[in-house]
Amino acid sequence: MDVGWPAFLALSVSDAARGVGCTPYVGLIWSTWGPLRVKIFLWLASQYRLWTADRRHKHGLEAHETCLLCEVEPESVDHLFVHCRFTLDVWNVVLAALGAGSLGLSGLTSVSGEVGILGAWIVWKEQNARCFRRVASDVVSVR
Ligand SMILES: [Zn+2]
Repeated sequence: MDVGWPAFLALSVSDAARGVGCTPYVGLIWSTWGPLRVKIFLWLASQYRLWTADRRHKHGLEAHETCLLCEVEPESVDHLFVHCRFTLDVWNVVLAALGAGSLGLSGLTSVSGEVGILGAWIVWKEQNARCFRRVASDVVSVR
């Protein structure tokens, strides 16, 4: 079964919200090609252990009020990788570059694991650039 990484993120987030757990998808992190640091990042995301604003706030740490990418919604793992408008636009750019066109969230299951890893990593790196270096790229120029 080929489950794309965006689908993995969407499924794991919604499963976790329902208390189902995301164990089958977590196994895909380690079996898909990608640098170890990126796999660790994805594993942390799947466990809601990334230091997103909502988690920082829960631990009494300084946190921004809204997502640094869209500046509209509160930042969480769910928002950052599944619902954020900026993230969806990044996916559409990636898919268009691959000749897959604009699929929207429901069509993201066709994305390979490696492309999914790349997309999630790009989004996370952009969030970190905005947070720590105060540098922002637009949807087309994020890396
Ligand atoms: Zn956002």
